Amino acid sequence: MSDCLFCRIIDKAIPADIVLERGNLLALRDINPQAPTHVLIIPRRHIATIDDLQAEDTLLVGEMVQAAREIAAAESLVVGYRLVFNCGRQGGQEVDHLHLHLLGGRSMEWPPG
Ligand code: AMP
Ligand code: ZN
Repeated sequence: MSDCLFCRIIDKAIPADIVLERGNLLALRDINPQAPTHVLIIPRRHIATIDDLQAEDTLLVGEMVQAAREIAAAESLVVGYRLVFNCGRQGGQEVDHLHLHLLGGRSMEWPPG
């Protein structure tokens, strides 16, 4: 989608700090990091939100989680990290292209704001 920020990053029309690119996925550092490590794992295919996933996307979501785990290991997040999917406006989603936040390098609080 030409009007989607993350699709434009995938198409290399907008620069990004890409940490992983393979198969169905791309991972990039968040431009406004909320932790020492803040990486977004995104599918190449435009899917707006968690609510737009189809049954056949189950493997894709698993690939996103596995990629997050690998990046966490590469970033030496040995004492833990947090994975977050924001969904919809009240869920805090601002970019309508599915993404998994990987946050680490500091203690996380609960409940989140
Ligand atoms: P969300 O609020 O869950 O939709 O998260 C969107 C994330 O995208 C936010 O954490 C933003 O800081 C991040 N973001 C926005 N624009 C860019 C960009 N050009 N490159 C990297 N991350 C971005
Ligand atoms: Zn998109």
